[in-house]
This record gives sequence, C-alpha cells and structure tokens, in this order.
Amino acid sequence: MTRTVYLNGTYLPEAEAMISIFDRGFLMADGVYEVTSVLGGKLIDFAGHCARLARSLRELEMTAPCPDADLLAAHRELIRLNDLVDGMVYLQVTRGNPGDRDFAYPGPETKPTLVMFTQSKLGLADIPAAKTGWKVISVPDVRWGRRDIKTTQLLYPSMAKMMAKAAHVDDAWFVEDGAVTEGTSNNAYIIKGNRIVTRQLSNDILHGITRAAVLRFAAEAQMEVEERPFTIAEAQRADEAFITSASAFVMPVVEIDSTAIGNGKPGPLTTRLREIYLDEMRKAAI
Ligand code: PMP
Repeated sequence: MTRTVYLNGTYLPEAEAMISIFDRGFLMADGVYEVTSVLGGKLIDFAGHCARLARSLRELEMTAPCPDADLLAAHRELIRLNDLVDGMVYLQVTRGNPGDRDFAYPGPETKPTLVMFTQSKLGLADIPAAKTGWKVISVPDVRWGRRDIKTTQLLYPSMAKMMAKAAHVDDAWFVEDGAVTEGTSNNAYIIKGNRIVTRQLSNDILHGITRAAVLRFAAEAQMEVEERPFTIAEAQRADEAFITSASAFVMPVVEIDSTAIGNGKPGPLTTRLREIYLDEMRKAAI
C-alpha cells in the first residue's frame, strides 16, 4: 500500500507530494515540527503537541498554518487513510517558499508550508528494548541556544546518533558545562532512592510533552521530583536512569559511558512509570 501524505490541505500519494527548492525549510531549516504517537489508532497527548507547536511558531514569528481543530482532523484522516494502528504522525511547518533565497524573513504574502505523514510501528508500546533498556554515551552539547524551540535543525543530534552507533550503544546524552542537558531526541532522568532528578526547563532543553506527563504521574505516585542539572558521574551512581519521548515513552537507561546503572537492568520505578504512563495516556487518547 502506498502511503498517503498531507501537503497544504491536500491528501496525496507520497510520490506526488512536491515542495519547492526555494522552501525555507529546505534551504535554511526554517521550520518546526511535532511527532505525536498513535496507539490503537488513537493520538497520544495531541493537545500537548498542539500547544508546543503554537509556542515554537510564536517564538520564530511564524504564522500558524491553520487552527488546531483542522490539525486534529488532518491527523485523524491520515490515520484512517493509512490504516495506522501503532506508530506516529509527523507534522512540519516551514516558513514557506518566498520564490528566492534571502536571510530576511519573507512578508505575509509567503504562506507557511504544512506537511504531515504517518510512520507505522506496530507494537510500538511493546518493543523489546523496554525490557532490556538502552546504553548511552555522553557527547558534548554543541547545539544552538534555543533548544526549547522544536526546529528541524537536527544535524547535530543525527551526528550524535552516529557517534552512539559507532560506540555500539543506543543513544547519546548531551553534556554542557559538566551537566547533562538531554538525549539526542529525548529528555534525561536519574533516580536515587525515591527521588527523580531531571534538568529544569529553560532554553537549554526541549520542553518534552512526555516529560510533563511523566513528572505529573510521578508526583501522583508519591515519588519525589527534583528539577536541576546532574552530571554524568552522578548519573553513574544513581539507582536507575531513563529517558522520555513521545515515541519511546519511558525507556530505561542501563549503562552510561560503559558504567552499569544499578544492577544493569531496568529499575522498578522506571518500569512502574512506563506502565502508568502507557495506561493513563491510552485512556486519554483521542
Ligand atoms: N528533547 C529533544 C531534543 C527531542 O528531540 C525530543 C523529542 N521530540 C524530546 C526531548 C522529548 O520530547 P517529547 O516528549 O515531546 O517527544
């Protein structure tokens, strides 16, 4: 079955979806994106992703392509047209095609480009890695200073993923001024005793939609939450570690820079948080 994608109000086969070479998303990575998970044909935390999209657009003085209700309708239509059960819907908005290349933003006559497509991942919530956990390495964080905006400038995270692959591990944690910022495409956490430690929100990290939900559930489950930076050395001495993202949910981290965390297996609180997150979010899925 060929995939049906969405481009500026139209649903069409992926091979027919064309964007100008002058689109600023292509020339300048002048675009923002969101990834919403789908479980059992339903969207997980769609409202959260819509709210962050609006914030990313505002921070970059970019025009919203359409109201949230239209975005929701398009997500659902793509799920239907592609028979998507488990996976994600990717959405990208760019500043559009001004017809030439120029550093200055174009005027309002240039309309944003809106693209959406599905990625099928059957059994997304039951992947074997959740039982064994990820190994990570640390790498310097050399990204720009507005990581709170979810832009399509993903070259360094891609390079870091390649460094992780070369080291035969699953992901990389970025380190800046001696402290962990986040993972290549996820937020990072450690647990000591009953206390979860994760970096506080700022321009240094993406404000994860999964992070917000998990911290809420953790507090409800009587776990303590401390939002502050932590070092790799502190993480290596922790009882447990994990990451969160919209597509990995809550994923245990069992090794950091070749040092096993705890007994080198996914920890009980991490496992519990993953279960709570999946249960609650499935219930609230739309
Ligand atoms: N940090 C970065 C750098 C990311 O790319 C992502 C994934 N979008 C996250 C954190 C996690 O955010 P979310 O839970 O909203 O997927």
